[in-house]
Amino acid sequence: MNTDRKSSSANKAEAIDHTAYTRIFIPNVIYFHLMQFGGFFAALYFLALSQVSPLWWGLAAFSYFCSSCLGMAITFHRVLAHRTFALPKPLEYLFSWFGMMGGTGSTIAWIALHRRHHAHPDTDEDPHSPERFGWKMLFSGFEMKLDWQRVRDLLRDPFHIFLNRYYIILIASWATLLFLIHPLAFFFGFLIPASMQITISNLSTILGHGHGYRNFETKDHSTNNVLIAALTWGEGWHNNHHADPRNWRLGLKWWELDPAAWIITAMTKLGIVKQESFLQH
Ligand SMILES: [Zn+2]
Ligand SMILES: [Zn+2]
Repeated sequence: MNTDRKSSSANKAEAIDHTAYTRIFIPNVIYFHLMQFGGFFAALYFLALSQVSPLWWGLAAFSYFCSSCLGMAITFHRVLAHRTFALPKPLEYLFSWFGMMGGTGSTIAWIALHRRHHAHPDTDEDPHSPERFGWKMLFSGFEMKLDWQRVRDLLRDPFHIFLNRYYIILIASWATLLFLIHPLAFFFGFLIPASMQITISNLSTILGHGHGYRNFETKDHSTNNVLIAALTWGEGWHNNHHADPRNWRLGLKWWELDPAAWIITAMTKLGIVKQESFLQH
């Protein structure tokens, strides 16, 4: 029995695809600038120079909801980075796809960085501490050194390895497909919402530490920020989150609105998310 256990854990160790890490797309500043400024100037153009049907703006809002709420807040962050509960695999994969199309990296890359942030918040090892990098983080001026040891669980999942390995090809194919369907679908279904996601995500790394109020005396300088919470479906209750990263609910007071948690509650009531998949406190 012992031998069986040993060999099964050895197999698990071998199953980790280390090359997935070395071949991963390491996001760089040029990539982020292309998406961030491209989407920003496209939005300005459509607002000021070329009026389009409000339906296109509706598509941009819907795409932002898919990538930022279902993708980043629920799946990248609460499901995968902290394993606070589990989604059924098909939904985990679909929402991971949505999150990735927001342009802030693959699941593996984003989670490697995020787990490092939680391990060393506001120290020299923090990849995005506002004390180290300041406002240049608004334009992705933070550290993108990734550590695969932190994402060993994801390196066992072929789907996440696939997203990681073909990151740029997948993003470019999706953008091209939307463009072929309708040129405006490229701008409103992809570029503008991705620019929003990159900008708001960068802003939250700045305002989430040192700008706002604190409910808990954590060792880091994390803060709850109302503006970020409003823009990110509740992710801005960042001091609450640092105090207990195992809690899937980030808004704790009645007025700390947490739409991502409402959706998780609804999915649980509908039986989509299993009660037993939640981390026990
Ligand atoms: Zn933080
Ligand atoms: Zn976190």
